[in-house]
Amino acid sequence: MIPVSEALENLFKLAPLMGAEDVPLAQSLGRTLANDVTTNRVQPPFSASAMDGYAVCAAEKGQQFQVIGESAAGNRFNGRVSHGQAVRIFTGAPIPEGANRVVIQEDVLRDGDVITVTEDLGSGTNIRPAGADFSDGFTLPKGRILSPQDIALLAAMNVPNVPVLRKPNVAIISTGDELVMPGETPGPDQIIASNAFGLYALVEQNGGSARMLPIARDNQAALRQAFDMSKGADLVLTIGGASVGDHDLVAPVAMSMGVEMAFHKVAMRPGKPLMSGYFPDGTQQRMLIGLPGNPVSAMVCGTVFVVPVLRAMLGQGDTPAPRFSAQLAHPLPANGPREHYMRASIQNGTISSEFSQDSSLLSVLSDANALLVRAPNDPARLAGENMAYIAL
Ligand code: AMP
Ligand code: MG
Repeated sequence: MIPVSEALENLFKLAPLMGAEDVPLAQSLGRTLANDVTTNRVQPPFSASAMDGYAVCAAEKGQQFQVIGESAAGNRFNGRVSHGQAVRIFTGAPIPEGANRVVIQEDVLRDGDVITVTEDLGSGTNIRPAGADFSDGFTLPKGRILSPQDIALLAAMNVPNVPVLRKPNVAIISTGDELVMPGETPGPDQIIASNAFGLYALVEQNGGSARMLPIARDNQAALRQAFDMSKGADLVLTIGGASVGDHDLVAPVAMSMGVEMAFHKVAMRPGKPLMSGYFPDGTQQRMLIGLPGNPVSAMVCGTVFVVPVLRAMLGQGDTPAPRFSAQLAHPLPANGPREHYMRASIQNGTISSEFSQDSSLLSVLSDANALLVRAPNDPARLAGENMAYIAL
């Protein structure tokens, strides 16, 4: 058996890096910038008023000014402000030449075209200098996963289309004679294919584009057909059929189709059997990860292996799922020789493991919001000790 870190290293070696494509800015949420994006704009392009008020050159309480014009957002005042003069100004409007501060309208009394400063003025000028936000040459770096805030910034940078990495296309194949799709009526010996939908969601949540293929029955022809349908994908996930039972066909069928299959007997709980390889498709690399069938095992392997692989495909580097730490709410017995990903919940800053750790219980997984990570042979732990976890 190999440690999780080694299995993950093996997967990273197979993960193809996605190429770039341009998408309209409005559709770029969550996408990864493929290149540095640089602006030739200055923002604001002119010194602008931060408030509604009067643009003047120096002012103090009691002083009077003659209002000689108006500067509104989108319509500047084309003239100069001299001593004793003021220009009515609004937020976002260009500061007229000669002015060096804006007195807010609340601090003046206006009578016809004359204003009197009625308050003591602070040191603030209420002016946003040109380029205060960014200047010509400002760059958003390659690799950035675009947030709504980034998209607002790119719009201000006058970028209508963004170069992003193509979404990894992920085909998901459930295997098993016992499975039916949600909404179908299961026979007496059948169950619903569940983790395929969990993995679909996990892929979509992490920047991939998931594609659900029909369930492959437990015979070679069905699995071969499913693999044929996965052509064009960057990553194929199979669920189940990954052990060495009579009905476990993923490895033999994949190998018969030219996949050089690596077996990772991973020292982890849940989710021991894991396989990987890629189809000999020529230029495009179609990676395969064979996941265990047990619902919780499949989802935990999705979090521990598939999500980091997707991130690697999206240029985020070869890094495992991030770990955090929280205080244990209760004691734990010593761990065995395999890394244990315990379903757990974090409440008020402390972490407690769920009562049952059976790897078939999706209700428990759904209730959990963390995987408490126990290293192999981790000694018994006391309440209050800090433990590593992966957020769900
Ligand atoms: P297998 O590795 O095919 O022997 O599957 C192990 C266990 O996981 C069996 O109890 C299967 O019924 C179950 N299983 C396999 N695939 C799925 C799936 N897509 N959804 C839910 N359960 C599954
Ligand atoms: Mg099966």
